Amino acid sequence: MIPVIALVGRPNVGKSTLFNRLTKTRDALVANFSGLTRDRKYGEASYQEQRFIVIDTGGLSGDEEGIDAAMADQSRLAIEEADLVLFLVDCRAGLTASDEQIASFLRQRSKPVMLVANKIDGLNHDVATAAFYELGLGEVHGIAAAHGRGVTQLLSDVFDTL
Ligand code: GDP
Ligand code: MG
Repeated sequence: MIPVIALVGRPNVGKSTLFNRLTKTRDALVANFSGLTRDRKYGEASYQEQRFIVIDTGGLSGDEEGIDAAMADQSRLAIEEADLVLFLVDCRAGLTASDEQIASFLRQRSKPVMLVANKIDGLNHDVATAAFYELGLGEVHGIAAAHGRGVTQLLSDVFDTL
């Protein structure tokens, strides 16, 4: 089976930017995958010879009223559908309450999660990612989705984990 990877995180962390980078122009190819709904955006991508499906989510409400409010239904469904979740945070904005709520939700699931700190362009990797180790999700993978920095290494780590 082709692996499915969900992009999850609060609004504005760069999920759609990463989705577009991963899928390039090929997102239409999976429009009719059975069982997939239109609430989430699906795209096809590849790393080396391996194809995978990426799910972009509209993100979370940004509302800080607890986990149910913070996790939009579509994000939860995307997590259920996925073999692996990329949980994006924004190293320019730093660690937020929404990030902590999403992390708490993800830690309660058995789904493999990789924590991705986006927007490290112009920043020192270790300094920019340090704050996010507090989320308790293991290694923090620094990337700049808009520029591509760290993305190949991220995919290498994803396929090592799958
Ligand atoms: P989403 O709401 O999580 O889908 O976030 P978007 O992909 O729409 O990006 C939100 C904003 O962050 C946009 O203005 C992007 O241009 C910006 N952004 C995304 N990736 C990067 C990055 O790697 N570096 C910087 N500096 N900005 C980024
Ligand atoms: Mg988006």
